[in-house]
Amino acid sequence: MSYIDNRLVMLRLLHGHGRAAEAIDLTSGAGFRCRSLKRTIDLLSTSHRLGENHAMGSEVSPKKQFTVAIVGGGIGGLALAIGLLRRNVPVQIYEAAPAFRETGLGLSIGPAAHRALPRIDPKLRVTYDSLVTTNADSPGFERFRDTWFEVVWASGDDEGELMMDLKALPSGQTTLRRADFLAALVAMIPDNTAHFDKRLVSLTERADSVQLSFEDGTTVAADVVVGCDGIKSRVKEFMLPEEVEQTRPRYSGMYCYRAVLEMQDAVTAVGNHRARVATWYIGSGCYAITYPIMNGKKLNFGMYKLDEEAWDSDGWVRPGTKEDLDSDMGHMGSYVNALMKYVSDTSQWAIFEHPPVSSYCRSRVAILGDAAHASTPHQGAGAGQAIEDALVLAELLADNAVVTPEDVVAAFRAYDSVRRPRSQKVVTSSKENADLLCLCHEGIRDDGNKLRQAWNERFQWLWNLDIDEHIESGRDHLHRHLRNEGGQWS
Ligand SMILES: Cc1cc2nc3c(=O)[nH]c(=O)nc-3n(C[C@H](O)[C@H](O)[C@H](O)COP(=O)(O)OP(=O)(O)OC[C@H]3O[C@@H](n4cnc5c(N)ncnc54)[C@H](O)[C@@H]3O)c2cc1C
Repeated sequence: MSYIDNRLVMLRLLHGHGRAAEAIDLTSGAGFRCRSLKRTIDLLSTSHRLGENHAMGSEVSPKKQFTVAIVGGGIGGLALAIGLLRRNVPVQIYEAAPAFRETGLGLSIGPAAHRALPRIDPKLRVTYDSLVTTNADSPGFERFRDTWFEVVWASGDDEGELMMDLKALPSGQTTLRRADFLAALVAMIPDNTAHFDKRLVSLTERADSVQLSFEDGTTVAADVVVGCDGIKSRVKEFMLPEEVEQTRPRYSGMYCYRAVLEMQDAVTAVGNHRARVATWYIGSGCYAITYPIMNGKKLNFGMYKLDEEAWDSDGWVRPGTKEDLDSDMGHMGSYVNALMKYVSDTSQWAIFEHPPVSSYCRSRVAILGDAAHASTPHQGAGAGQAIEDALVLAELLADNAVVTPEDVVAAFRAYDSVRRPRSQKVVTSSKENADLLCLCHEGIRDDGNKLRQAWNERFQWLWNLDIDEHIESGRDHLHRHLRNEGGQWS
């Protein structure tokens, strides 16, 4: 116990956090936790001078001496902005497009990201849940609420048979239109936060700022930068120039056909159950995926094929014909063939993969979402990883020990320490999952028992993340960096 400014204060050094300390003003109830005893006492004195009075247990956050410049306003950038704004961390967003927009179709997130949403902002999960389509949206299929996918043999002796009901507890399969979700995120961003038509062309680190230069000729001196600029990230290129060549996206040896079918057509093709409940059809060298969207009015249908050839187009989409589709997918059994009859666009979409980068940060710059770890889509986990990134980074930047841009460097390094291993493992396991789905995973192939075991183990790991423990692990790294490095930022 001590008296500070004539107030009785309980001071406590935080065990295991170096010089970090906690102070509780027993008169007003104000509480502070900072990386040094001195800073804790300073904050308490400042609070007294300003006459701030807080309920017991609440913490006054020291005013941040930095603004976070977010480059890119996709799902990752907006989730981060929302998390930071809710925690009173100043933010500015620079988006290349003339407005926020989403071009993709459906989006599905797994249980771990679903649990992260309300931690970013409780309104986020309420909004997400209000927009999703689930298996249970079709009357009579309520019992499939917890099912992520039913896995069905596409061909072979067991053609059409169910091999597994893969449950994703407690959220089940949830899918929404990307544009709807993005619009909901945008509605949570204050007007003066976003700048459009700001395509980043270069980034230069100065002694006390990072200069962002945009295609329209304007520049901004940012305190700290988070690149959320997607799969072709410019921020990543400038942050890790020596890795540009070896981390370029490369063809993953797989392409897909995509379609959205009327639910009525799908029911005619494969019957009510198969059309209404999300399904993976697994076959030799290929797999197909279906799940209901738009409250069960339509069906999203994707067909993926392993390919040993090089991708022979400059773009990511090349024309394909009905004959190509039949020759690629004809062996995938009666369900898939019946759905294929309703596919009108036979374009082929290349699936790219992204070799791992060595770090998600350097000095005052970090990357998040697809900019850091774009994944193949075979586990539906890319956006979920961006959401987990956003939560962890928002928590670390909001930590009371992070006050100056130099502190942010430590927060970025802590974010890298916890997020890189997990998100890079997700990228690897997504690629491996394509092999499982195509029955060509070495040592497993079409062994039903081994496939079930592999999926149970993989998805438990992906979905059962203890998000609080994950954040606290980041906080431990943060406090260790702040303690050990005493102002030496690299
Ligand atoms: C076929 C397919 C299916 C998928 N399905 C799923 C799924 O079911 N579930 C799931 O979780 N994930 C899925 N994903 C992955 C998911 O779409 C991405 O992981 C997610 O959208 C990444 O969000 P992001 O904000 O990091 O990047 P993006 O959404 O790409 O946003 C990047 C933003 O940055 C802007 N930008 C780009 N360059 C610049 C620049 N130079 N300057 C300023 N702004 C810039 C862009 O305009 C954009 O607004 C799928 C991906 C594919 C390809």
